[in-house]
Amino acid sequence: MSYFSDLGLAEPILRALETKGYNDPTPIQRQAIPALLEGRDLLGIAQTGTGKTAAFSLPSLHRLAADPKPRKPASCRMLVLSPTRELAAQIAENIKGYAKNLKLGVDCVFGGVPIGKQARRLVQGTDILVATPGRLLDLIDNRALTLGRTEIFVLDEADQMMDLGFIHALKRVANLLPKNRQSLFFSATMPKSIEDLGKQFIQNPVRVEVAPQSTTAERVEQYVTFLNQAEKQALLSLRIRAMLADKTLDRALVFTRTKHGADRVVRNLNAAGIDARAIHGNKTQAQRTAALEAFRQGSCPVLVATDIAARGIDVSGVSHVFNFELPNVAEQYVHRIGRTARAGADGIAISFCAPDEKPYLRDIEKLTKVKLEQVPLPENFLAEAAKLPSAKRTPEQLAQDARREERDERGRFGDRGERRGGGGRDGNRDGGRGRPQGQKPAQGGQRSGGDGQRTAAEGERGEAGKPRRFRPRGAPGVGAHRNKVRRAG
Ligand code: AMP
Repeated sequence: MSYFSDLGLAEPILRALETKGYNDPTPIQRQAIPALLEGRDLLGIAQTGTGKTAAFSLPSLHRLAADPKPRKPASCRMLVLSPTRELAAQIAENIKGYAKNLKLGVDCVFGGVPIGKQARRLVQGTDILVATPGRLLDLIDNRALTLGRTEIFVLDEADQMMDLGFIHALKRVANLLPKNRQSLFFSATMPKSIEDLGKQFIQNPVRVEVAPQSTTAERVEQYVTFLNQAEKQALLSLRIRAMLADKTLDRALVFTRTKHGADRVVRNLNAAGIDARAIHGNKTQAQRTAALEAFRQGSCPVLVATDIAARGIDVSGVSHVFNFELPNVAEQYVHRIGRTARAGADGIAISFCAPDEKPYLRDIEKLTKVKLEQVPLPENFLAEAAKLPSAKRTPEQLAQDARREERDERGRFGDRGERRGGGGRDGNRDGGRGRPQGQKPAQGGQRSGGDGQRTAAEGERGEAGKPRRFRPRGAPGVGAHRNKVRRAG
């Protein structure tokens, strides 16, 4: 018998958990499930990776199953709002698994795919609907859905919703929900603006907080290399190639600041013989699903992503996270490196820091209270970099790339929350994430337009000339920091 039974969950749910091999509830599950079974509202401060999907799904399924009702057309009994398509799909899959021994229907709707099919599915109504906010409102506007029968409402990743500019959509949803309902509100961070948003949804909630963000980073070995922007691609290709060759890398997530930057990194990795794919808001849903699936199954070991696209993606076995560019919001760094070190495993995070990114690094170290260990460029870096083939681009294509990246960059630093054109109201805008208050601006003019245009920054390399290699996972090493780094040769 599992410890889940102590929490009072119904037998069909316990059986589903047994099939999944979950024995013990995670801390957030232990804290949240009893209160949710009583019908209380909940304010949860938790990141993806803590088991929060099950924390809100299991007691909700229990309550819905305990009070069976026939499905009503264009209605749902439980609504889960999620900021991105991937996360919505993942949540729906999880809920389907937990509900497999119950007679409850689970459906998922998000933008980027035709709306007609989704609307037709909703004609019969469903028990549990997982949705991104834009598509939800489109369906409501098309009279394919009403929220008047929603008994349980879950708002997931509230901070990300705000960053994506969903505030007005959420206020509309709040007005459409019946007053008499149970509401759950989750966010990884709880600044005042998010707390105020929460007040529109939840009443007298139980407050549950697990693993404050800055501490989740402790299980991850963290390194930084100081270099110029133009040197990053070569270092990334060399590091990944070496790690794949000596089998120290299982799966790597590479974070870039912009969508076009992600495409450029993929092109160059491919040119260097490394199988990599990109996932970001400009890709079609089919491309994103295919890339994620290849990464999940291990046929493609490197996934290059922007923050928004990668948020919440639950892929086990990510051994390395590379920050090709440092995020300008320190919390984002914690989210990124949280993609590795999931479910108790440890992971390695490697950041590439250009001179104009040093203020971001300072903010990150202040938040995480971890000083990143400095790793110099390899001794033979320039010679090795020169040997790397680069992706063939015509001068016109290069100019176009530079223009696109500039546009991406403007979008990032532009109006907070503003959405940019194309593709309906789904939750995967990568842009519009303005610099938060108090954030230091990037020092202008540092970014290069293409590859290989800048020379090495001497004096930024720590013990320059001593090549180092990241230790295989689990292998012993030498030196400080529990020997996370081993010198080669
Ligand atoms: P989440 O935070 O909901 O994204 O969950 C993170 C991962 O932990 C998912 O892969 C879940 O399937 C898994 N998980 C959730 N609850 C448990 C549990 N009690 N025991 C083991 N794994 C779990």
